Amino acid sequence: MPNPLLADTPGETHLLLGNEAIVRGAVEAGIQVVTCYPGTPSSEVPDTFYRLSPEGKYYFEYSVNEKVALEVAGGATMCGAMTLTTMKHVGVNVAADPLMTLTYTGAPGGLVLLSADDPGCHSSQNEQDNRHYARLGGMPVLEPATAQECKDMARDGLLLSKKHGAPLLLRTTTRVNHLRGPVEFGPAPDPGKPEGFTRNPSKFVPIPAFSRPMHLSLIDRLNALREEAEHSPYNTVSGEGEIGIVASGISRAYLADALENAGLAGKVMVLNLGFTHPLPETLCLDFLKSVKKVLVVEELEPLLENDLRVLAQKNGLNLEISGKDVLPEYGEFTVTQVENVVRAFAGMDTVEVKGCASVQDLPVRAPNLCAGCPHRGTYFAAREVFGDDVLYSSDIGCYTLGLLPPLATADFLVCMGSSISAGSGAAMASDKPVVGFIGDSTFFHSGMTGIANAVFNSHDILLVVLDNRTTAMTGHQPNPGVDKTTIGENDHPLDIESICKGLGVTEIRTVNPFNHKKTVEAFKELGDMSGVRVLIAREPCPLYARRVYKKVAPQVAYVADSCVKRGDCLEKLACPAFYKKEDGKAAINPILCNGCMLCLQICGHIKAKKRGK
Ligand code: SF4
Ligand code: SF4
Repeated sequence: MPNPLLADTPGETHLLLGNEAIVRGAVEAGIQVVTCYPGTPSSEVPDTFYRLSPEGKYYFEYSVNEKVALEVAGGATMCGAMTLTTMKHVGVNVAADPLMTLTYTGAPGGLVLLSADDPGCHSSQNEQDNRHYARLGGMPVLEPATAQECKDMARDGLLLSKKHGAPLLLRTTTRVNHLRGPVEFGPAPDPGKPEGFTRNPSKFVPIPAFSRPMHLSLIDRLNALREEAEHSPYNTVSGEGEIGIVASGISRAYLADALENAGLAGKVMVLNLGFTHPLPETLCLDFLKSVKKVLVVEELEPLLENDLRVLAQKNGLNLEISGKDVLPEYGEFTVTQVENVVRAFAGMDTVEVKGCASVQDLPVRAPNLCAGCPHRGTYFAAREVFGDDVLYSSDIGCYTLGLLPPLATADFLVCMGSSISAGSGAAMASDKPVVGFIGDSTFFHSGMTGIANAVFNSHDILLVVLDNRTTAMTGHQPNPGVDKTTIGENDHPLDIESICKGLGVTEIRTVNPFNHKKTVEAFKELGDMSGVRVLIAREPCPLYARRVYKKVAPQVAYVADSCVKRGDCLEKLACPAFYKKEDGKAAINPILCNGCMLCLQICGHIKAKKRGK
């Protein structure tokens, strides 16, 4: 019996996460190739494909980064394969180079790029609005608001992309990726084999002589897609009256609730846009003509609002268009926020903010590395050796959690892989040495080029590769360095030390960060040198070790009664398993303790005991 997400069971309804619904939609379209780089809030899409891949009829890979993922997808679709590539919004920046050309060459087999945007920066370094990429590259855009739409738009987006040979952007936001709702299934046909490659250099080789006509073809494709948008079932008009409201993406769901709460459902005109680019101009113009004033409800940038202003101006319409003057250009909306803006627009009183009141005076819980995280050992040793005498160049991953005191090992951070290159620049421009930190997955993603650059340009940096044998932050996805994955062995594990050697690094040391003495010694030794030096701090993430290696430490730590209240364990190591008792002595919560035995090396009053005793 196949997994329900793969089964051909039209008419069945399942309660799915938005991200799982996208998987089902792709299966219903006949998906043949899936590539990705995991990133929250997109991660459950590739993770689900990965989990189902032993029984699925598609090829799946975790690519080393988003650019590579999209390039693999580009080659596959050129050979007629229906292809999906998934990433988070900042990943599209990494993939932007191939993306801007793939829109020229086109996607004969169909190609949907899932960009999971993150308004409100729930788990991201910015909240960029990737609808800009669609305008920059010339891509059609679908923006779901419900789990059902996630499924339907993934399916229809792939079919539309194949029909027009146009890469399509499926743009979700965190709220949509992680909502759960009923999804009615359609048929799941056998995808069969990709159609194969038809040799045609003038279509697929963008030298200038071919690129110019390719650009014209792209414009033609967009015009044809505008016609599709005019008649799309995802673009609808409802209600009546002189007030018009236009909403896109998840804002459509907020608006529906807001209108219901305000008693305005059906009493104002609503233009719901799910197929948002190219803009269905005739539909929008007819709507603008039918009302006296318009409110545009869209999260982040005023893209739709600006489009509608241009459309009104071009057609000599004199009507009030409101949007970012009353709604913010940042963060996620809430239903109450939208309701109050809608009420004010309709001349009604606003309402009190609804929602669950938080319990007062709860202690603040700062973001922190887990108890027993190997990164704590590395950071603790780095601080002991270098303190504030160096600049700490950080990178993207769990280890960014070393930012806050007492570890305080992140002075600057730009993007994936930047610890090495931004660290190199800082070392050159400042009078302080630089210690950079990068995780194993990030090393493969975009760290290697930074090392090559640092060696080639004789930069002066001590780089620490925090090799926890997985991609911990996004949910333990495998990377090229791991030896075991959640569904089996990695047949071709890459060795970070050999890669560093191959890139020209001569001073490389490897330590277990739970061995405090050896880690301190390695830091001291490499800190006294100059040039590019690499310290590999290798120890699996304990959550991953428990899940994949079934490894649980047999002992936990406890603080003996002899504790002299020195406080180093609490104030310098700050493992979250520690707490202070009323008498001022330290104690360890045995449920939180992961048994890493690091604290025993730091204070003689901390001892080990058998777990559960
Ligand atoms: S052994 Fe010590 S440092 Fe390690 S998890 Fe337990 S309390 Fe924390
Ligand atoms: S998930 Fe793993 S790597 Fe990330 S902070 Fe926790 S223990 Fe460390």
